[in-house]
Amino acid sequence: MVDFCKKCKSMMIPTKKGSSIVIKCRKCGTIVKKAVKDTKIVEKITKTKGVILLEKDEVPLPTTDKSCPKCEHNKAYWWLQQTRSADEPPTQFFRCEKCNHVWREYK
Ligand SMILES: [Zn+2]
Ligand SMILES: [Zn+2]
Repeated sequence: MVDFCKKCKSMMIPTKKGSSIVIKCRKCGTIVKKAVKDTKIVEKITKTKGVILLEKDEVPLPTTDKSCPKCEHNKAYWWLQQTRSADEPPTQFFRCEKCNHVWREYK
């Protein structure tokens, strides 16, 4: 699209002025601010279901005195996870501090 000067009807050329782009008349020097289309902002909608997912190992987990059914070590990490429908109570999971064995306990 070519813009024309409102004053003298001459063709205007886009010129960079700082961080924004303006259009400037070649003849009389009139400067008009040009609306620059913003770069598309992609909004990432992250849906949280209220489920604590254990995906990253760096997530600090609380520990409890629980004996591992595998190696009988008595310290285990624990977390709650909604495994079925939201109406039902969450399942408590344990992970052995020593052998990383994971087991669950229904409440
Ligand atoms: Zn002009
Ligand atoms: Zn263990």
